[in-house]
Amino acid sequence: MAPIAVRNPRTGQYDYQIIPPDRDELAAVCHRLRTAQLAWETSGIEHRIAVLGHWQQALQTHRDEIISALITDTGRYHESVLEFDSVVSSIERWRRLAPDLLRYGESRPSAVPFIRLEGRLTPYPLVGVISPWNFPLLLSLIDALPALLAGCAVLIKPSEITPRFIEPLRRTIACEPALSNVLQYVAGDGMTGAAMIELVDLICFTGSVPTGRRVAEAAARRFIPAFLELGGKDPAIVLADADLNRAAAAILWGGTVNCGQSCLSIERVYVEAPVYEPFLEILTAQAQRLRLAIPEPHSGEIGPIIAARQAEVIADHLADAYARGAIAKCGGALVEHSGGIYCPPTVLTNVNHTMKVMREETFGPILPVMPAADADEAVALANDSDFGLSAAVFSGNPAAARAIAARLMAGAVSINDAALTAIIHDAEKQSFKFSGLGGSRMGPAALHRFTRKQALLVNANPGYDPWWFHKEA
Ligand code: NAD
Repeated sequence: MAPIAVRNPRTGQYDYQIIPPDRDELAAVCHRLRTAQLAWETSGIEHRIAVLGHWQQALQTHRDEIISALITDTGRYHESVLEFDSVVSSIERWRRLAPDLLRYGESRPSAVPFIRLEGRLTPYPLVGVISPWNFPLLLSLIDALPALLAGCAVLIKPSEITPRFIEPLRRTIACEPALSNVLQYVAGDGMTGAAMIELVDLICFTGSVPTGRRVAEAAARRFIPAFLELGGKDPAIVLADADLNRAAAAILWGGTVNCGQSCLSIERVYVEAPVYEPFLEILTAQAQRLRLAIPEPHSGEIGPIIAARQAEVIADHLADAYARGAIAKCGGALVEHSGGIYCPPTVLTNVNHTMKVMREETFGPILPVMPAADADEAVALANDSDFGLSAAVFSGNPAAARAIAARLMAGAVSINDAALTAIIHDAEKQSFKFSGLGGSRMGPAALHRFTRKQALLVNANPGYDPWWFHKEA
């Protein structure tokens, strides 16, 4: 297949390339994974836990190499370190949880006295994972780890925009042959992703809504489950009795960490009218203190826009907002440094729901802030969206915040904090509306997505049973 050139987000140079597998090569990889899967499944959970433990150690040994590749892929420093550490701790967490989660199906009576019931969890043999560029390592493994522990083989295709981490990661997988038999990475773009869906038994997709729809359609044609984790336009609601300094700090973090390039970024803020002006002043002052990460990746908090096409979306949303009357209190435009494209944290006022910046996913460090007459109007505005990934509510009265959360059409609501699902993966949640489809990727249910339940119905009656046609003479 033709090589795909990869852009460096800090220099704008195309200084790396990947060569996707052709269909036969991809089919051969899938065949090898399938062949090895049965032994992996029957080896038992203790063996799988041990293998993943060895891999955890190999990852630590290659830590610097992998983080360095992630920094080049994404241009950012702090989030790359966090991303690596969170993957290692999530291996630890799944290894701890898996045995209890896979305990299932002990013999029990049925409604008929001599028929007993047993059950098995049967893993899907080959799970495919297709992941985006905003957290390349974490999002390639978030579904793969529980799938491996459930006994599946896993094929992962990360985004073609951030593929440099694949090589050092492959070296760690190769250290553990039992793992490399059942876990493989392939580099490629959407064509490889589409080809994969034809070859696997279940697909986990993280990415945009339009691609998610194509993935869901392809999976539906094959009758394979598709778990979709898609875009967001997360709202934050600030009630009049909230601690405004705290709310501003949390919303600023939730809206600008990773340069706003997170599905769960705060992208809209609704503030009860009496505290709108003071909140805006505090948020703007705090936003102005953040620095672009130049000249070095660790020089500041705000790294470059990773994907060139995302910079175009951000510029388009800003231009559309200004044309409709929005005003930037700080930031406000993309800037270029040494070939990289950056966006300073931007607080927008005079915004309304006719603007793209209030309706479509921006995926940049932009915080449009809108007054709401009261809590009811704030809830109505927050729910006026095609998306339903997550949300945040700030109030001095936790009971009032919970009551608002109950009315929000979002899969997770942070209370007196923002974007908590970025760091807390224990709570089960589903995506509402166009933000996704399928069972929870977080909490214990995440692992059960990769198994099917098989029932064994055992007739323990030594004689003949009343419902059979013929009885012995
Ligand atoms: P994207 O949809 O452009 O690409 C995602 C992946 O799909 C890439 O690996 C790409 O190569 C692959 N792909 C493209 N066309 C395909 C096809 N026809 N069949 C199969 N695979 C195909 O998304 P992106 O720009 O890489 O990522 C950003 C998006 O991801 C944002 O919308 C963001 O909100 C979303 N996201 C969601 C979550 C979540 O958990 N909900 C997390 C991170 C990112």
